[in-house]
Amino acid sequence: ITKKGHCLMAKAKILVIEDEKDILDIIEFNLEKEGYKVKCVDSGEEGLKQAREKIPDIIILDLMLPGIDGLDVCKILKNDSKTRHIPVIILTAKSEEADIVTGLEIGADDYITKPFSPRVLLARVKAVIRKLSMSSNDSDVIKKKDLIIDKGRREVLYKGKKVDLTFTEFELLYLLSKRSGWVFTRNQIVQAIKGNGYPVTERAVDVQIVGLRKKLGDAGEMIETIRGVGYRFRD
Ligand code: CA
Repeated sequence: ITKKGHCLMAKAKILVIEDEKDILDIIEFNLEKEGYKVKCVDSGEEGLKQAREKIPDIIILDLMLPGIDGLDVCKILKNDSKTRHIPVIILTAKSEEADIVTGLEIGADDYITKPFSPRVLLARVKAVIRKLSMSSNDSDVIKKKDLIIDKGRREVLYKGKKVDLTFTEFELLYLLSKRSGWVFTRNQIVQAIKGNGYPVTERAVDVQIVGLRKKLGDAGEMIETIRGVGYRFRD
């Protein structure tokens, strides 16, 4: 972990928006135990106010809220230049896959399904902080174990051997691996890689993932399917 990441991790200010007191207490207790500065609020209205005034480092947002619901809170946060950059982790019930997809598409950065263990919560928070601290050292050559993805040369090497990919397969692999650990919905993938004259539909994404995994051999396992949601390149 980088120095910057470590420093951010220790002092991160976290805003938690959740109306269920029991869950709020558990989250607060566990985050404070790790040394984070935690502010808890029980409505979307108050959450938005706190977000604008205090600019936290991370927001944990429940989607089921009285008043303005969580998806709308997320949308407002992501449309406001003051709060747009703040990573949002949404909390949803496991059965609400559609909400997870919608949440990710309006800009949420990660999600946790209820019920969750404190261990999972902390792991997600730490992962978001780690990603925040890493996004600054962007590179056009991505190395993941034995896999090398060279954007400039549009070349992929696995264990020193060239992997022949189509244009779209390359874009797909580059997109996922550039932000490894992040979940992309099929629609986000379509949005990101279309416009090159290649027809990409949500269905086509699945087909292309299958083809891409095949060509990558063992390395194909690094592309994870998140059921009902989309795909993620494993960290
Ligand atoms: Ca709730």
